[in-house]
Amino acid sequence: MPELPEVETVRRGLEPALVGRRMTRVEQRRPDLRFPLPEGFVSRLEGASVLSLDRRAKYLLARLSTDETLVMHLGMTGRFRVEAGGRLDEPGAFYQSHGAQAAHDHVVLHLDDGLRVTYNDARRFGFMGLYPSDGIERTPPFAAMGIEPLGPALDGAVLARLFAGRRTPLKAALLDQRLVAGLGNIYVCEALFRARLSPQAPAGSIATSTGRPRAKALALSGAIRAVLEEAIAVGGSTLRDHARVDGSAGAFQERFRVYDREGEPCVTPACRGLVHRIVQSGRSSFYCRDCQP
Ligand code: ZN
Repeated sequence: MPELPEVETVRRGLEPALVGRRMTRVEQRRPDLRFPLPEGFVSRLEGASVLSLDRRAKYLLARLSTDETLVMHLGMTGRFRVEAGGRLDEPGAFYQSHGAQAAHDHVVLHLDDGLRVTYNDARRFGFMGLYPSDGIERTPPFAAMGIEPLGPALDGAVLARLFAGRRTPLKAALLDQRLVAGLGNIYVCEALFRARLSPQAPAGSIATSTGRPRAKALALSGAIRAVLEEAIAVGGSTLRDHARVDGSAGAFQERFRVYDREGEPCVTPACRGLVHRIVQSGRSSFYCRDCQP
């Protein structure tokens, strides 16, 4: 499952190919992905230009010249391929993992400069929809989303205000999409480790009784940002089926400090603890009891 840094990596890879370009022809090779594609999908896209490509949580939003926005979600195995003149970029790297066969190319966008952008999705949990651009932030699913963990919206004061008075564990609060949008399990585990906070601590413990940030809130917001930015810098974590937009693998998984390291020594210098795994709300939490009391 691609997490936020992977989606942002895909966005940054697609942006130069798509933005400012007109879609001269669109191929729709099946009626549905996870859900049916919108009615008139091809005719609504053909002739439209892409004005911008943004991201909200794990959704990509291509604003079009037709006053509609093409909303895309990669689901479990969705990926994009950018090709010029029929030549595949890095085909070897791309076709190594399963799910990249041409049989799973479901939507192909032909652009006015000859580039071709192909959406491939083996398991078809992905999503494409067309929404009116005006007021899109007030429509589901965007209306109910919490703050962007990468944008300027997240800092210690905001996090403290959001979490103040909550008894739910920090881990669960950080995964609650209505509070913070798009933060997944891996990055929550890594951020809590860097902030030296227990995943089991009450969310409200980062704030004073009046909702002001404690030092913990500042440490946590800084750790979230650092972990996401580091993952984006190396191209996402590439767990299982996920690949970067150019098909090459990301490398953040080599940098996990606690995630998926159960029983291994803690990486903190001079700490003699081991990485523990517990299950919270059905998801694994990895942490060091010594560093994250
Ligand atoms: Zn430790």
